[in-house]
Amino acid sequence: MKIIVQKFGGTSVQSAETRQMAFRHIERATQEGYKVVVVVSAIGRFGDPYATDTLLELIGAKGTKLSNREQDMLLSVGETISCAVFTNMLKEAGIDAVGFSGGQAGIRTTSDHLNAKILEIDTKRLLKALEQVSVAVVAGFQGLDELGDITTLGRGGSDTSAAALGVALGADYVDIFTDVDGMMTADPRIVEHAKSLPRVSYNEVSNMAYQGAKVIHPRAVEIAMMAKIPMRIRSTYLDGEGTLVAALPHTDGHFDIKERLVTGIAHVTNLTQITVDTASADKQQEAFSLLADQGISLDFINIGVTSIAFTVPEEKTKKTADLLKAEGFLVEIKERCAKVSIVGAGITGVPGVTAKIVSALAKEHIKIFAVC
Ligand code: ADP
Ligand code: MG
Repeated sequence: MKIIVQKFGGTSVQSAETRQMAFRHIERATQEGYKVVVVVSAIGRFGDPYATDTLLELIGAKGTKLSNREQDMLLSVGETISCAVFTNMLKEAGIDAVGFSGGQAGIRTTSDHLNAKILEIDTKRLLKALEQVSVAVVAGFQGLDELGDITTLGRGGSDTSAAALGVALGADYVDIFTDVDGMMTADPRIVEHAKSLPRVSYNEVSNMAYQGAKVIHPRAVEIAMMAKIPMRIRSTYLDGEGTLVAALPHTDGHFDIKERLVTGIAHVTNLTQITVDTASADKQQEAFSLLADQGISLDFINIGVTSIAFTVPEEKTKKTADLLKAEGFLVEIKERCAKVSIVGAGITGVPGVTAKIVSALAKEHIKIFAVC
């Protein structure tokens, strides 16, 4: 059985029109002789009735009394609705399809609610269904833990569902369909002339994703890389090839990917830089332990002789500052910072790269607070 996994993100399943465009890609795959496992995200973006962030609003997002386990019951509903709607659309178009929740598709996860990891996928039921029908639609982002409780996989979790299903089913390809034409040299919403990268290695994409290029989740790339399953990042709305993510030529002669100096520029916005006065080495350790104990993860850490500086996501600013102040630390807060990363295997060791970056930013009067 030739299997292909096709994942459609929130904007791709947003309306009847976009679902129709998604349909064309599925239909084409079935015509090419594939059994298709479709993975869907929740419908639309914040403001749309069943989008993940809208569902969160129902319980007042921040001050909820719900446990993480109960929040997962709510969050998983977005993908469940999307799965039923999408399956209905396929059936109406005359395609044999069956819908599955993550649990019904055999996805077993850890019990880390809101951020669960996939442990294994029991593919028996999916494979049996695919003997009868051409398409199985699976709700992304969700699974079941050993207690039978619904879990969700964290932001970008449908990408991970798709990659893990691809590996478990031995799929020929995992296609990530989205609203842009592949992995690009920068976020096209910000850099107008960003170019689509036709072929990239797992490493390049994984680095771009880790540094903030949110077109694909880094965990999904890692899962595909371990099993060397080729991934394609493609536009739902266009017929282009998008980006093929595969191994480098020395590990897989089939693909002609050359190491390049710079793959692209990735960014993360809405960061706060916090500088903490730490007169002695003891104090440094105390500050780090305090934050680690509270599960606050820090990025861009700079350790100086009398102070440490790091960034946290904007929404963690108050909690972080309050914790430090309560222990008597003096803190300085810089809000609305961004982290810009130049991603490329060839950069290390090339002289003058930092100088070029610094002067490019200076030209635009952008202040630099930290470099690493
Ligand atoms: P989906 O809902 O389909 O998962 P996402 O919003 O998660 O879509 O990811 C697609 C978005 O990723 C694009 O609209 C684009 O703005 C953003 N993006 C950020 N960096 C990049 C990049 N380097 N290449 C392509 N898209 C990028
Ligand atoms: Mg996404």
